[in-house]
Amino acid sequence: MVFQILLVLFIGACTGSFLNTCIERIPAGRCVAVPPSHCEECGHRLGFVDLVPVLSYIYLRGRCRWCGAPLPLLYPLVELLTAVLFFLTWSGSGFNEVTLAYWVFVSILVVATGTDLRHQVIPNRLVITGTVFGLPLVAVQSWATLWSGVAAFGGAGLFMLALAAISRGGMGGGDIKLSALMGLYLGPVGVTVALFLAFLLGGLTGIVLLVTRLKRRQDTIPFGPFLALGGIIALLWGGRIVDWYVGLLI
Ligand SMILES: [Zn+2]
Repeated sequence: MVFQILLVLFIGACTGSFLNTCIERIPAGRCVAVPPSHCEECGHRLGFVDLVPVLSYIYLRGRCRWCGAPLPLLYPLVELLTAVLFFLTWSGSGFNEVTLAYWVFVSILVVATGTDLRHQVIPNRLVITGTVFGLPLVAVQSWATLWSGVAAFGGAGLFMLALAAISRGGMGGGDIKLSALMGLYLGPVGVTVALFLAFLLGGLTGIVLLVTRLKRRQDTIPFGPFLALGGIIALLWGGRIVDWYVGLLI
C-alpha cells in the first residue's frame, strides 16, 4: 500500500513537471516535447538530477545550477499540487480507466490555471487536447457516460456562451471552452456543481479584492482558476455536495 501511494505521488509529481513545460510553452505556440527542458534564462539543458520534481528545487535552493537565475516558485508548487490531486483521485477508485480519465482531466485544469494566471489565456490547443483524450477515456467507461458527457459539453458551452453574450465581454472565449470540456469529464450534474462553485468562489474573491482595494472595479480577474477549482471540488466531492443540497430541500 505504501509503495502504491509513493508510486502515485511520484507519477503525479513527474506529470506536474511536464505540466510546467506545458504552461510555459503552449501559450507561446511552442512544442512541449522539443527541445528538452532547459533553463529559460541561460538555455543550459537540465540534467537528470535537475528534473527530479520538488526535491531538485529544494536542493538547488530555487536557482539554476549554471547561471544562478531564480526558478519560478510556481514550478515546485505545480509539481506538489499535481501529486496531491493524483493521489486524491486515485484513492477514490484505484488504478483503473476512471482514474486515468481523472488524471488527464486534473492535468488539463492545472495547465489552464497556470496559463490563465501567467499569460491571461486558456489556449485552444489545451482544450482540443483535453477533448481528443477525453472522448475515448469517457467512452470506455460506458456509452451512457459518453452521451451524458457530450450532452453536458454542449449544455455547459451554450450556457456560458449565453452568459458571455449577456455580460458583453465579462467572460473570455477560453472560459467558455474550458466549461464545455469540464462538462465532458464531469457530466451534467458534476459540471452544474462545478460552475456554481466557480461563480460563488470567483464572486466572493472579487468582492474581497474590491473591498481591500487590491483591485479596482475596471480590473479583470482571470476566471479560469475558479473554473478549475470548481471542477476539482465537483470531481472529488460533487456527489456529497449534491446529497447535502438535496437533503436541505426535503
Ligand atoms: Zn540558467
